Amino acid sequence: MTYKVRFVNPGRLYKLLKDELDQAYFEVMTRGDFIDREQLRSFEENLARFVGTRYAVGLNSGYDALHLSLRAVGIGSGDEVIVPAHTFLATVSAVANVGATPVLVDVGKDFNIDVDRIEEAITDRTRGIIPVHLNGYMADMIRITELAKRYRLIIVEDACQSLGASQNGRRAGSWGLTGCWSFYPFKILGGYGDGGAITTDDSSVALFARRMRYNGEDRETGDYHGHGFTCLLDNLQAAFLDVKLRYLPAWILKRRQIAERYRYAFQNIKDLQLPHYDSADRDHVYQNYVVRAKDGDAFSDHLKRNGIEVLVQWRKPYYRHKALGLFDHGFPETEAISREVCSLPMNVELDDEEIVQVIKVVRSYYLS
Ligand SMILES: *Cc1c(COP(=O)(O)O)cnc(C)c1O
Repeated sequence: MTYKVRFVNPGRLYKLLKDELDQAYFEVMTRGDFIDREQLRSFEENLARFVGTRYAVGLNSGYDALHLSLRAVGIGSGDEVIVPAHTFLATVSAVANVGATPVLVDVGKDFNIDVDRIEEAITDRTRGIIPVHLNGYMADMIRITELAKRYRLIIVEDACQSLGASQNGRRAGSWGLTGCWSFYPFKILGGYGDGGAITTDDSSVALFARRMRYNGEDRETGDYHGHGFTCLLDNLQAAFLDVKLRYLPAWILKRRQIAERYRYAFQNIKDLQLPHYDSADRDHVYQNYVVRAKDGDAFSDHLKRNGIEVLVQWRKPYYRHKALGLFDHGFPETEAISREVCSLPMNVELDDEEIVQVIKVVRSYYLS
């Protein structure tokens, strides 16, 4: 099916940035600088500055960022780590793959971990918590930080969807021991392939990640500091990301403008829940604009039939996939979300006509 409005349009964005991206490409290609060069260091510095941490370490993916964060503090077999029941599976797989047990907690109306339910999930084996800032809106880090202090838990922020979001002016990814980032192409800051990073203020965690991403090797001395991995952010990707990072503040404003237009157009539709929350201390960067319709399938089918490409994340909660060996404790909000969600087109490439078209088709579902 060809859509009138595509969910994302990477080719269109490339055209807008073509001169700068091509120049970055030619520089890397002519010098043959592919692994751990100036472009990577420059991007790491700029990312750390943007997030507000001392260090950033470029990795191959968001998954690697989560995985190395847990390894950095020795979380493993016998340990429990609290994760939200509604998230991308990588959050949970990172815990399982270090040999620890993921303990699931339901989410609230804002799609983020329900802070009121965290305490009942804590046992004497709990070592850490991974709050996920889903869709571009932060989990309540003030309350989560308090809880973590009280129970001596390590916080690893899964900030993969919330670059630029903040609470009380402090950015996502600067609260926990680490902030974990993904530059998967359709993230708010996306590369042209996989990519990720850790941000942290802790020099030993940064050093650990720098070594482990390169098979445990200290690249200056050649000493191996353990059995590591191959999960470095490619220099070419870093060069592209460094170009795009400069545009991010403007892109966030554009996303907020689109969100406001959606809000204004849909505010009177009672059966459609919109992702606008009245917490004065947190701001949304709208990585995704996820609405909730009573019958999510009928709603998203209507949009697709009328030429609007939408995304559904996720119709089947991850813990119901048998092969993962997780337990379904009954998570009512996660269950409701999984029936109702539908992500509308939300990206900086959208033009005015397309936004109008999305609005028209959504309204026609309710008002015809
Ligand atoms: C994208 C994403 C990840 C994983 O990132 P990859 O780079 O694809 O490994 C983890 N958690 C969340 C919430 C994400 O959206």
